[in-house]
Amino acid sequence: KMHNESVTKDCLTNKIILVTGAGDGIGRQAALAYASYGATVILLGRTVTKLEAVYDEIIAADGPEPAIVPLDLKGATKSHYEGLNATIIEKFGRLDGLLNNASLLGVLSPFEHIDHPSWNDLMQVNVTAQFMLTQALMPALKRAEHASIVFTSSGVGRKGRAYWGPYAVSKFATEGLAQVMADEYEGSSIRVNVINPGATRTTMRARAYPGEDPKQLKTPADLMPLYVYLMADASVEVNGESLDAQ
Ligand code: NDP
Repeated sequence: KMHNESVTKDCLTNKIILVTGAGDGIGRQAALAYASYGATVILLGRTVTKLEAVYDEIIAADGPEPAIVPLDLKGATKSHYEGLNATIIEKFGRLDGLLNNASLLGVLSPFEHIDHPSWNDLMQVNVTAQFMLTQALMPALKRAEHASIVFTSSGVGRKGRAYWGPYAVSKFATEGLAQVMADEYEGSSIRVNVINPGATRTTMRARAYPGEDPKQLKTPADLMPLYVYLMADASVEVNGESLDAQ
């Protein structure tokens, strides 16, 4: 695959990359991978102990010192996101990459059992918070020579499936937001793409498929070539794509 070859040892050197949901699962692995390719990562998530563990792992591997941003996307407001943008510009001067990775699975249930408060919480975290964070970070992203925004979808964000209710709807919205942005920023310094990780060995997957043997699944590490490629300059011409990591 093309992205395997273009991922070279220092391909993210001097890049500043923010990862949401960086404490666990695919986001944690992406943060570790970005740091190992030379990026300074900004670790955003809601469980500080997990973010600290990722921080320690990056330092132990002699990676660039990361930053930690404890933030719950469910309750965060415009002023949190704008404050983050200002802090990033003050500390780093710009933002080269944004991986919108954090999301909720919610409850898988028949359509008639979907409850309104949990629908709203899921849309808040999976859609509205990603829109608000990304919008607020545009000034920092515009200061980069090339900036890469990556959203995270799912197979059910392309074709709906019974019982996947709000999660599937949120992933269609994610694909839609990415398409709108990619078209709007086409020809600019900012590119916008989507990754569909595919079935991956994480806590979220185990909750969705409790009867499955996790050992049969790809690990987050297996997905990293595409995650790294989309943040590297090798992908500057790639815009508006929805790509499968597997
Ligand atoms: P996990 O549940 O393992 O990890 C998600 C991370 O996001 C956790 O660190 C979690 O924090 C964080 N997070 C969740 N809610 C919030 C919030 N309100 N505020 C801040 N951080 C939050 O998920 P995966 O790694 O499996 O999934 C990553 C992405 O990939 C998601 O967008 C998911 O939809 C997508 N995906 C995953 C697939 C899979 O098979 N695993 C398949 C298709 C898509 P905490 O640690 O505190 O819970």
